[in-house]
Amino acid sequence: MTASDARTSELAQHLSEVRQRVAAACTAAGRDIDAVTLMVVTKFFPAADVIRLIGLGERIFGESREPEAGRKVAEVRAEIGDLGVPPAFDMIGSVQTKKARTVAAWARCVQSVDRPKLVTALSGGTRAALDSGVRTDPLEVLLQVSLDGDISRGGVVVDELPELAASVTDADALRLRGLMVIAPQSETPEHWMERTARIRERFLSDHPEATELSAGMSGDLEAAITYGSTCVRVGTAIMGDRPVISP
Ligand SMILES: *Cc1c(COP(=O)(O)O)cnc(C)c1O
Repeated sequence: MTASDARTSELAQHLSEVRQRVAAACTAAGRDIDAVTLMVVTKFFPAADVIRLIGLGERIFGESREPEAGRKVAEVRAEIGDLGVPPAFDMIGSVQTKKARTVAAWARCVQSVDRPKLVTALSGGTRAALDSGVRTDPLEVLLQVSLDGDISRGGVVVDELPELAASVTDADALRLRGLMVIAPQSETPEHWMERTARIRERFLSDHPEATELSAGMSGDLEAAITYGSTCVRVGTAIMGDRPVISP
């Protein structure tokens, strides 16, 4: 794993800028830098980039599409050999029920759980992966909340959050870890992150152990950190522009 090519230098430069943004936002919010995880979103980019990022010290990656993600994770794991701290891959994009089984084979966490049918499918898929030894730990789950109620872009409406959370805590192969949001384009990031903080406060009173909040991307990570994010998901600011393919 040599960090010598031009792409590696570019990634190192971007990574250093984003790490500084995260650190500055933590300082401004009076939060400990260790309270916020930087996840690098590597969708559309090749396994070779993930391997470069591992060489640069990153360990937490976000992927959003099957089968691209499963293939890439397998390729990375085959290439890197034994590291002190192995990389973790989270699913952050919408998951079709029929893909739940393959996602449960590679994901540390699915951050985009938004409906009971998906909980059932992930639960079954994780149970099978545990029984066959493909994975050793329960699947972590974040519930994706729709902030504006437009569920065509994924997420559960706030009113249905308690019931969805209960379905996860009832599934013994799954671990409820918290919430995930994507700020809509209308209004300011601060508007949505402030709303997120209020939803989370209510949610935590029912699920005090589910403390994770995945919020903030390249354009709004500062606002997200101000309002309590514990995981920022950064793609473009580190990887560069994604190739334009239909959404
Ligand atoms: C692609 C993606 C990101 C990264 O977005 P950028 O604006 O490129 O940083 C974050 N979260 C989710 C759910 C994504 O699909």
